[in-house]
Amino acid sequence: MHGELLALRAGHVFDGVRARRSGTVLVEDGVILDVDFTGARPPAHAEVTDFGPDAWLLPGLIDAHVHLCWDGSADAVAHVTSGDRAAVLATARDAAAATLRAGVTTVRDLGDRDYLTLALRDGVPAGERPEIVAAGPPITTPSGHCHFLGGVAQGAGALRAAVRERAERGCEVVKVMASGGRMTPGSDPARAQYRRADLRLVVDEAHRLGLSAAAHAHALGAVVDAVNAGFDSVEHFSCRTPQGSVVRRDLLDEVVRRGTFVSLTLAVRPGGALPPGVAAGHASLLDLMTEVVASGARVVAGTDSGIAPQKDHGVYPYALRQLTELGMSPLDALRAATTGAAEAVGRAGRKGVLRPGADADLLALDASPVDDIAAVTGIRAVYRAGRRVR
Ligand SMILES: [Zn+2]
Repeated sequence: MHGELLALRAGHVFDGVRARRSGTVLVEDGVILDVDFTGARPPAHAEVTDFGPDAWLLPGLIDAHVHLCWDGSADAVAHVTSGDRAAVLATARDAAAATLRAGVTTVRDLGDRDYLTLALRDGVPAGERPEIVAAGPPITTPSGHCHFLGGVAQGAGALRAAVRERAERGCEVVKVMASGGRMTPGSDPARAQYRRADLRLVVDEAHRLGLSAAAHAHALGAVVDAVNAGFDSVEHFSCRTPQGSVVRRDLLDEVVRRGTFVSLTLAVRPGGALPPGVAAGHASLLDLMTEVVASGARVVAGTDSGIAPQKDHGVYPYALRQLTELGMSPLDALRAATTGAAEAVGRAGRKGVLRPGADADLLALDASPVDDIAAVTGIRAVYRAGRRVR
């Protein structure tokens, strides 16, 4: 028994790799059946939606770094730590819905409390949330960055046990706080939290269990250690020193050689101020990120959405403009947000691409994102698993 057949047409299609003209995407049972560029008439029984000659179809966007349990208020830490389970889960549910409406159909959640994003993933229908790749509570040192989320582990035995627990719970990625962070009083973004040997142990254990590994790293020493420990992605990649963010050529060469994903946390609402603590040293950080983009490293965008009001849920499309400001072409920014990010979050071939067999998560835009990347904020329609959700 097959469901209905949808035929989505537009004057332009970005398929995750290339921009093409006049495409029809056929969708059945939540999956893309075919993508046609010949102009052939869709099967007679298909329900046709034609978005018109100026519209664009593209894969749903992928945010590589979110925090669905955080409410995006000025007091987000207090909410996530002191709210009861039901309250935090309700927050996560709203966050997921807002994210989906913004055209983000897959997220990688890199820090929750009590594995609540897994409860969201397993308990809420696909049409009401993006696809979720979850890390659970980030692994951190006693009183280290985000220790209040409950993921404290120190020493080889505890670190291995922490990775195993996440695998058993159903996480697909392990997140480690390799340096301090801004949200945690007493933790220092400019200092590493773990020894390189500990980081390597976590990566090895994660890979052995089939999970990927992501490291939060602001301090230069922590970034270097995380890259050399073999993390699949390094978050923030701020390369901070007391003199600000610095560009180390040998480090960028190593990142390119290893194929490490650099997950830059971007996106602020227009008119929104930078989070406190980021503004200082921001010029050197922008210089660094520009060099990272130019280096040929595999750059993807995350948002850290949820941590502050200017980084509310659904802010991701603004990250694409920032990627172009860092020197990416609009087409490369679109690739980073789709096929590139799909690979970074472990969904290559299924997400971020319009081709037969891929999940039917897609967007229709009013105007060309290749001419002006800001068009990604002009969303006409969002489809998730073949159903229109906006
Ligand atoms: Zn984060």
